[in-house]
Amino acid sequence: MLTIKKSKLHGTGAFASRKISKNTKIIQYRGEKIRRSEGNKRSEQRIKKYLNSKDKGSVYIFELNSKYDIDGTPSYNKAKFINHSCEPNCEVEIINDEIWITSIKTIMKNEELTYDYGYSFDKEDYKDHICNCDAKNCIGYIISSDEWNKFLNHIKKIVTKRNKS
Ligand SMILES: [Zn+2]
Repeated sequence: MLTIKKSKLHGTGAFASRKISKNTKIIQYRGEKIRRSEGNKRSEQRIKKYLNSKDKGSVYIFELNSKYDIDGTPSYNKAKFINHSCEPNCEVEIINDEIWITSIKTIMKNEELTYDYGYSFDKEDYKDHICNCDAKNCIGYIISSDEWNKFLNHIKKIVTKRNKS
């Protein structure tokens, strides 16, 4: 259902190789099942490595349930190439302890697949995750749409402070 190729949004992306109707289970986010503590350890190590090397890397640790994470680094996990968008055409669903990428609208052939990475807003490090999606409402950073209000309030506060001084 999908092809992996260079993306205009970021690095490599996943594209629909045919028309996909709404509510279709497109691809499973597969990888190594690891305990949460191990997942946290790997995430920290990778983030540190990328900050030091200035290489753009990805962490690929996905929360499966309260105990386990999926480390999606292996090359067989094609789902890791799906990019974030502020106006995504897919979403992540946990179905029977499996992570699935499911369409939330009709996707045309050759359209890039995207979902909301669900990053919570953190005023210390949001600037590390620039969003280059082509959505009209792109907020500029990779932040879960559930947390956009927090981000906008943060920006508002900065602007108010500047105007006062
Ligand atoms: Zn965006």
